[in-house]
Amino acid sequence: MERRRARDRALEAGAMSASAVVPRPDPAKTRRPLADDLTTLRLGGMSCAGCAGRIERAVRDANGVTEAHVNFAAATLGVRVEGGASTLESVAHLVRGMGFEVQTTKPSPAARGESVDGGIDAFAEPEDPTERELIWLEVRLAVAGFFAMTAMLPSIVVYLGAVDASDARALYYLAIASGALTTPVVFFSGWPFISRAIRSVRHLSPGMDLLVASGALSAFSYSVVALARGSSDVYFDTAGGIVTFLLLGRLVERLARKRSVSAVQLLHALSPPFAHLVDDTARTREVATKSVVVGARVEVRPGERIPLDGRVLSGESSVDRSVITGESMPVAIVAGACVEAGALNQVGVIVLEVTRVVGERALDRVAQAVERLLGRRAPMQALADRVAASLTALVLGIAVLVAVLGLFVFDDAALAMNRAVAVLVVACPCALGLATPMAVLVAAGHAASRGVLFRDAETLERAAEVTTVFFDKTGTLTEGQPAVIEVRPNEGYGRVEVLTLAALAERGSEHPIARAICAAAPPSTPTEGTTRVVPGAGTGFRGMDGRRVWVGTRAFLESVGVSGVVDPVTRSTVAHVALESTWIGAIVVSDPLRAGARRAVDALRARGLRLALLTGDRVEVADDIAGAIGIKDVHAACSPNDKARLVEQASRRGEIVAFVGDGLNDGPALAAAEVGIAVEGATDVAAAAAGMALRAGGIERLVEALDLARATRRVMRQNLAWAFAYNALAIPAAIAGLVSPAFAALAMAASSLSVVANSLRLSRLTSRENV
Ligand code: ADP
Ligand code: MG
Repeated sequence: MERRRARDRALEAGAMSASAVVPRPDPAKTRRPLADDLTTLRLGGMSCAGCAGRIERAVRDANGVTEAHVNFAAATLGVRVEGGASTLESVAHLVRGMGFEVQTTKPSPAARGESVDGGIDAFAEPEDPTERELIWLEVRLAVAGFFAMTAMLPSIVVYLGAVDASDARALYYLAIASGALTTPVVFFSGWPFISRAIRSVRHLSPGMDLLVASGALSAFSYSVVALARGSSDVYFDTAGGIVTFLLLGRLVERLARKRSVSAVQLLHALSPPFAHLVDDTARTREVATKSVVVGARVEVRPGERIPLDGRVLSGESSVDRSVITGESMPVAIVAGACVEAGALNQVGVIVLEVTRVVGERALDRVAQAVERLLGRRAPMQALADRVAASLTALVLGIAVLVAVLGLFVFDDAALAMNRAVAVLVVACPCALGLATPMAVLVAAGHAASRGVLFRDAETLERAAEVTTVFFDKTGTLTEGQPAVIEVRPNEGYGRVEVLTLAALAERGSEHPIARAICAAAPPSTPTEGTTRVVPGAGTGFRGMDGRRVWVGTRAFLESVGVSGVVDPVTRSTVAHVALESTWIGAIVVSDPLRAGARRAVDALRARGLRLALLTGDRVEVADDIAGAIGIKDVHAACSPNDKARLVEQASRRGEIVAFVGDGLNDGPALAAAEVGIAVEGATDVAAAAAGMALRAGGIERLVEALDLARATRRVMRQNLAWAFAYNALAIPAAIAGLVSPAFAALAMAASSLSVVANSLRLSRLTSRENV
């Protein structure tokens, strides 16, 4: 009696520790609150990071908006709103009022509370403002190029001596011609700058458009006034040059950005819009993929992409998962196999039973993860954004000062105008605003295509600083698909009996050992009862008849009052089984090392990282695994909280710890680590607690992921350093009259282009070690 109560307490404690160690509810079971996901809207018309900041501030202040992030590089606005679709509409209205385009989304399923794919919806919309913007940009640039070129002809005519330079009358007519030709350049091609500049003044939030527009308009109006006074001392070509060069720079930048954004959008393109639904009469019908529900049967023909996650009911084929996981080997599939949306079905016709619908598929999670990553700013960017925000006002001030000085001190209106305009144009903080978002954009797309997901830019930055990597054993260093190799029954019990009883308790557990035991046990009808899982220790089961079965470590069984436990002589993992308080046997399980684990560990060590193995398994098993891969620092028989404590201790010593794990029991350690990394096959809880997920290739991909993080940080720093240096040098040079206004426009465009080009290098990165 007394003992039974002790056991109940243990079960209760187990249940408590289970809930205490799980940092968030299992997302697979409880639908995430809708507000947890940002809705992503696409934006058009942003000319500079300054615009991004203005939109963000305005939206954040709007009613019902709890969070807003604008990503200039990806041209997206991530908002979290209360009040659903109507609030989104008013946000869109607000943004349009500021002179930007925003993609009109029909009320997404997310807003109606059906699914959580608001972001997906926004992307699936055919009307894409960035596309339209690009076409307009090309038209405006073509017009600007043509007229700005012809507007230079008069000067060339004079230069070539076709017109006598002393013929004032001829020069005056040429100046008028130049003015006439420049007018469409400034007022048609340059109209986006001008209109947004006017609106920015109205909203009291001056940005780069104001700088450019006032630059071009100053040169233009200065020249018109000169003409009116009968002078032919005009600077129309300056005005035309500013607009043309800036449009040119913008176009090239936009094209480069489009390339990397499409790596992200590719994820959406992977999902076929239609599916072949199989009805009860075995006939197929084409339906929208979105309308397919869980449990429906869907046929996938050779050469088609799989539309929804599901289990194969019939047919044999092989699928290419490379676009989702980066793994290039096709995988053979037969009935019973699970397949993911986005994978390419290669040879046979297969019929699936749908297990996850649009919005909840693995593919959608990747897309959501990437959007989330793009939706928030890298911490490193904070200073650059602050500088960019105040630079506009500062530059306007400097330009006015330069103009005043030129006019009144040097008494030279042309000099005053030229220098002030050069200052206005050269100083746009475009490169500053692009510095880290562009690097993150490229890195996110590249990483996702290699099966690596980062939760946010901060994690990406943190991952670059990691000094220490702690590994969980099961499923991380090992295959995680253990097999029962031996059953050692206690006297009076049979092998089958031990396995059958153990399977009873293990059916409710997600642990790899549980799966192995269930697979090895003879098939039986499920017995009703309650199961309690104690992470890192084992499981307990109480049947309807009150009978209890325990499976787990020796310590766990002893803690619930089981006596007489005998450890078998083995260096493999052992699960002990007890019926009530009697030990009835041990099940020996082996879990081979992952093929690439040794190489990955070597590669990590070569990068100067401190490595350690943290496991809940026995010392013997831990030592063998650690010995096989060359890790010296081993901690065995750790509870989930021990693992978290070890992580915290290392953090306190100043180490930046990455914890790599897969299971329920790794939740606390994943959450405690600076960078929690969930490996392939990780449970949802582990993935939710982690900052980074390796969707394929296990820890072999870790090396590549950390390399990418380091390279991204390097590129961010280079970009920031370059952008700061550019602004720090360009402004004084313009004040000193060292750069002409048109050259300033060229330099400005070149500076943001170089940031874009530098970031694009990240997409070509593959691991040096190629593990
Ligand atoms: P690791 O740290 O290697 O991932 P865990 O922390 O998941 O291992 O588990 C530690 C030990 O607890 C296992 O080696 C196993 O002996 C025991 N254990 C945990 N869960 C179970 C279970 N469901 N069934 C049997 N044994 C379990
Ligand atoms: Mg584990």
